[in-house]
Amino acid sequence: RLRKLAKKRGEFLYFAGGVVRDYLLFKKGKLNPQSSKDFDIVLEGNLEKFLQELNEDLNKEILFKSQFLTYKVRFFLDGEPLEVDFITARREVYEEIAQLPKVFPSNFMDDLLRRDFTINALAIGLSAPYEGLLLDLLDGLKDLEASLVKPLHLNSFVEDPTRIFRGIRYKVRLGFDFSEEFYQALEVCYQKEALKKLSSARLANELKLYLFKEGEEILLKLLETTYQLEVFKEAGLEVARENFPLLCEVLKEVKEEFSPKEREKVYFLGMVESLSGLERLGFSEVEITRIESLLNNFRGFYHKINTLSLKEKLEWFDKVRREYLCAFAVIFPELKEEIFRYLKVYSKVRPELNGEDLKKLGFRSGKEIGEILKILRLKRLEGKVKTKEDEIEFLKKF
Ligand code: ATP
Repeated sequence: RLRKLAKKRGEFLYFAGGVVRDYLLFKKGKLNPQSSKDFDIVLEGNLEKFLQELNEDLNKEILFKSQFLTYKVRFFLDGEPLEVDFITARREVYEEIAQLPKVFPSNFMDDLLRRDFTINALAIGLSAPYEGLLLDLLDGLKDLEASLVKPLHLNSFVEDPTRIFRGIRYKVRLGFDFSEEFYQALEVCYQKEALKKLSSARLANELKLYLFKEGEEILLKLLETTYQLEVFKEAGLEVARENFPLLCEVLKEVKEEFSPKEREKVYFLGMVESLSGLERLGFSEVEITRIESLLNNFRGFYHKINTLSLKEKLEWFDKVRREYLCAFAVIFPELKEEIFRYLKVYSKVRPELNGEDLKKLGFRSGKEIGEILKILRLKRLEGKVKTKEDEIEFLKKF
């Protein structure tokens, strides 16, 4: 349908970017089919009109339209949803270093030239005049075969320093190398201090993609590569490299249980050399001050931990949100086991009696009930009560 419509409208439609790269890698047996999740279809033409004309009877829903002339569309094929990103072939003009570009609808060639790496500048024609052809105008195939991440020009990272993080992701994910030109473009970027001009939101977003798009399995390699290229330093972000292995281990351990927001907090807090680094990652002053006071309290606790009873430890741990506790496990590695014992065991142990039961037993105020529940938990952890009956017995004596 899409092809027919492009033909009718005399507009050129093609696949470009990651979908072509991953398809070619898959054909060579270098990638498993699950690796490529989304795909981009580009139109050299008027995308708005094209999508309007796309048959009314084709069950579809436009989910999102961006300022960059792109549309996310959900089709329903035999009832199954399929999301496709439609993109207008475009030219990008970078007026200021590290700022978002101005975007203009343009032709196929401009659309390839605006891209980040040669391996992402390959296209496959979906309509005339290049239907079914692999279009390799910038030598992407050669670099794909040589497993090289190569920018299109040496000013590439000055225009958009987020491409450095993108390049690192491709290198690590695909097991590629950086080309000579990658290092040269990096040098030009450092000379112009472009990374320092990258906004906190965009910097944080790129680092979040390491965790949320690439995942914990390759996170350590991503962080190490970024560190070795001095990207953190050039971006004005001081990181605690010695924390990286433990940070990645901790993130793996909480992957299933923590929400993305919680994982993000552990990640950023565990990554920075000192709390002032959080500012560069977009944390508000209020939040940094709150974390600072928590951390100072925790330091006091840390020094006397060996002298504290289980009850005292629980009192401490109960006061701190679990994502901060996890970050403290990275900052104070000696405490990792203790903290994880709390998160995985202690915090999950509950008395069998609940608030309602306690009311029936004559306890009145919410505060009192809260305290009793904590005491019952402690008694369970100490092995002094094991059943509901034990709990009732204990309370009678209490
Ligand atoms: P992934 O497998 O990570 O999804 P992708 O190549 O599909 O890789 P997207 O972020 O979906 O990555 O971007 C689609 C395409 O748009 C890229 O292949 C690249 O050609 C182009 N692109 C995306 N971001 C940039 C950028 N910052 N600068 C230049 N080109 C970009």
